Amino acid sequence: MSVESTSVSSDRVSFGLVIGCEWREAADGKRTEVRSPFDGRTVGEVAVASTLDVMVAVDAAEAGAAIWRRTPAHERAVILNRAADIAEQRADHIAAIISAENGKPLGEAYGEARRSGAIIRLSAYEGTQLYGDSLPLDANPGTGQDKAGFTLRQPVGIVAAITPFNYPALLVLHKVAPALASGNAVILKPATTTPLTALALAEAFIDAGVPEGVLSVLTGPGGLLGDALVTDPRVRKISFTGSTGVGERIASIAGVKKLSLELGASSPTLILPGADIEKASAAVAAGGYVNAGQVCISVQRVIVHRGIETDFLDALLPKVAEIRMGDPSAEGTTLGPLITEKEATRVEKSIEQAVSEGARLLTGGERDATFVSPAVVTGVDTRQKLAQDELFGPAVAVTTVDDFDAGIDAANGTAYGLAAGVFGGTLSEGLCAMREIDAGSIHLGWTPFWRADLMPYGGLKASGYGKEGVRSAVEEMTEVKTVIMHG
Ligand code: NAD
Repeated sequence: MSVESTSVSSDRVSFGLVIGCEWREAADGKRTEVRSPFDGRTVGEVAVASTLDVMVAVDAAEAGAAIWRRTPAHERAVILNRAADIAEQRADHIAAIISAENGKPLGEAYGEARRSGAIIRLSAYEGTQLYGDSLPLDANPGTGQDKAGFTLRQPVGIVAAITPFNYPALLVLHKVAPALASGNAVILKPATTTPLTALALAEAFIDAGVPEGVLSVLTGPGGLLGDALVTDPRVRKISFTGSTGVGERIASIAGVKKLSLELGASSPTLILPGADIEKASAAVAAGGYVNAGQVCISVQRVIVHRGIETDFLDALLPKVAEIRMGDPSAEGTTLGPLITEKEATRVEKSIEQAVSEGARLLTGGERDATFVSPAVVTGVDTRQKLAQDELFGPAVAVTTVDDFDAGIDAANGTAYGLAAGVFGGTLSEGLCAMREIDAGSIHLGWTPFWRADLMPYGGLKASGYGKEGVRSAVEEMTEVKTVIMHG
């Protein structure tokens, strides 16, 4: 049965699945409600896909990919640029959906939704830039000038995009837009807690004229749909953003296909002598608590030189005290709930455990249902779980060190390596930090909490492999053939 996406009033939205750009009910007719993490009210309803829907979506994608790869790049770009315009026109509405289902303050949700147009346009451009190389074959002994060789970059075919809940628009667009721009069919599996944003964005691509077969969105349980999608040999590329545990599972069952894994983190910020304490404390007070700390590049760990620790904390605490926790839709709220009560309880317990092991809680850390008040914990040993494990909550763990080398060791002292920041220090220390910290992005003069949509973005170590950022994503969603013309 075919269903229209229900157009959205601000309060409650209802969607079917998208299979090959058509709105449909799940094969078994199953639906589920989407609830607000703030007050539990129903904010929408979606279909629940089964493995049968995965098969139908992959069939549709096979047909769609064959048409889309033969569509000239300039025609694809026209359609994507139209999708960018539509997403921009609907940005306020999409922001309301993001805030309702994810719980982030409306102001943050607007910021996220308003980046949509730019991400799609940057991707559309990169999709027109699939250059290759000409090969100097005659430099190879035994080969003459009777041959010519070059590389040809082409779409992989079908991309499976699996996304987490914390940036329901941004992280969907960082996969779907480059995949479409470079001529692939995409099957998107958004997070179960935040499917509505993904579907609203898919609506923009469909309304812009993305042809039949090319885009599918399957909402439903990650394990079931994920296993069926990632093991299907017709899927040529998996682009996954989510936890390290799920990333490891995908890597173990995917078989022979391209993978990019954007995984967990415990990102450090070094504060060294000479740091602008006002600037550093303001950046930490923002980067540690935005989206209730549910950000892969959140400032989870601050590693501060002993000589400036007191000054730094004196500057940080009043800024943390200004964070206003409350209803995400209310003006002035800067901290919303965590995504579920289970997550809030996990964060509360991690802080409690650190304190029971000797760390000091200077402020916050109290839980009320899905909320945890913004916390600052000092005296944290890098070996403690609060530093080692990804927290994904509104708390900053402060570790004190006596010199630069101990700071670098502490920064590198977890399994993760997504991003890091450094304030202060000498030029030589900055250059050393840039080379010695094992992280995918290093920010000199800022915290890890910063991203431009066009920059290569991705982690090292347990934070994954592969890069996003529109140019890198286009590169990873295409493959290179070598063509030799024999005279
Ligand atoms: P998650 O791993 O629980 O879920 C991510 C997605 O995977 C969801 O769509 C989920 O339904 C799906 N999934 C679950 N089990 C699966 C399986 N067996 N096979 C395939 N898919 C499956 O993550 P989350 O809780 O939604 O998001 C938080 C995590 O995402 C954190 O660890 C965070 O660091 C990470 N993250 C990383 C980045 C990055 O760029 N490195 C960005 C954002 C979030």
